[in-house]
Amino acid sequence: MSKPYLVVGGGPAGLSAAHSLGILGEKVILVEKEDRLGGAPILDGYAKLVPSGEWAKDAIGSMVDRVTGNDNITVLTSTTVKEQNGADGNFDVTLSNDDTLNVGAIILCTGFTHFDSVNKPEWGFGTFEDVVTTTQVEQMISSGSGVRCPSDGRKPNRVAILLCVGSRDRQIGREWCSKICCSVSANIAMEIREELPDCHVYVYYMDIRTFGLLETHYYWKSQEEYKVKYIKARIAEVTSDGEKLIVKGEDTLVKRPITIPFDMVVHAIGMDPNVDNMLLSSVFDVNLEQHGFIDKGNAYGSLGATTHTGIFVAGAATGPETIDDSIAQGSSAAMSAIEYTKSNS
Ligand SMILES: Cc1cc2nc3c(=O)[nH]c(=O)nc-3n(C[C@H](O)[C@H](O)[C@H](O)COP(=O)(O)OP(=O)(O)OC[C@H]3O[C@@H](n4cnc5c(N)ncnc54)[C@H](O)[C@@H]3O)c2cc1C
Ligand code: SF4
Repeated sequence: MSKPYLVVGGGPAGLSAAHSLGILGEKVILVEKEDRLGGAPILDGYAKLVPSGEWAKDAIGSMVDRVTGNDNITVLTSTTVKEQNGADGNFDVTLSNDDTLNVGAIILCTGFTHFDSVNKPEWGFGTFEDVVTTTQVEQMISSGSGVRCPSDGRKPNRVAILLCVGSRDRQIGREWCSKICCSVSANIAMEIREELPDCHVYVYYMDIRTFGLLETHYYWKSQEEYKVKYIKARIAEVTSDGEKLIVKGEDTLVKRPITIPFDMVVHAIGMDPNVDNMLLSSVFDVNLEQHGFIDKGNAYGSLGATTHTGIFVAGAATGPETIDDSIAQGSSAAMSAIEYTKSNS
């Protein structure tokens, strides 16, 4: 009988990898460090997903159900991997509860860490209560509480969404584009306008990257149907006059300073490398790429390969990824892992 596969991380990528292996009759052990499966969309309470428009709890929840309902898959939550040794389809693994496993291949689906906006102090997060992040607004919407100013619970009349917070910012060591936040922000802007039709929503941007078909469904739709306003600007700071938040910067189209008052300011936060990546790199003996994400060993030869033969990677562990792409990569890595174990048996 072939050895089981180890999948580390139970977000969209890990759920997809485990499911692909499980339905093909392979045994899988899925290890997740948090106490439940689902990854960022569930753990961080996302609302309606881009681009499907489905609620995260339903869409990702059904992925969780098909994994927990598959007898070939053993799920271990609140668990991490302490040690790994091995090669050639024979990996000995010690878990955080001191259990040991012998597996034929490993797939790392350990995802990303949300950018912490306190690292951008001049934009007001941590100083003013009504400066929030996109994840906080997602949680307001998904919890059913509605979009409210945290300081006093009032409905905001004017909201600014600032793009590229913790992305495309060399000054704070984050050069990458987080790929999905333009579309997520346009989606949030439309959701705010739907809930609060009198609320004015402004999106401050360097440039808009609603890639592919998302351009129509988010960038243009948010302007034409939802009257969201876009300002191409460099933001200097977010302050307060005691009553309103004040966003100061330069309109880079007309090259003039702009100072506009708001009730709520939303940081469209980016995707950082998982804070565990140094540890994961040492436990699994895989290289990280220059920004700290897990390095892809071979982009085309074996999809999902890392720099360690027999250890694969998928999803946002490799860099900013969308949910769709993370799911696709989880499935591809599963196929590569099967190919690898068959060639070693
Ligand atoms: C605000 C925001 C909104 C977004 N909205 C959308 C959207 O609408 N549509 C879209 O396509 N994308 C969206 N994204 C991107 C989306 O979050 C990612 O594409 C997706 O979560 C990646 O899935 P993943 O499984 O690779 O990683 P994750 O979702 O990060 O899952 C990784 C899992 O691994 C676990 N883990 C981490 N380290 C370890 C460890 N050491 N041991 C064991 N387990 C570990 C984690 O607890 C987690 O469960 C959004 C991102 C942000 C920041
Ligand atoms: S997707 Fe948009 S908001 Fe996100 S980092 Fe790229 S350009 Fe900035």
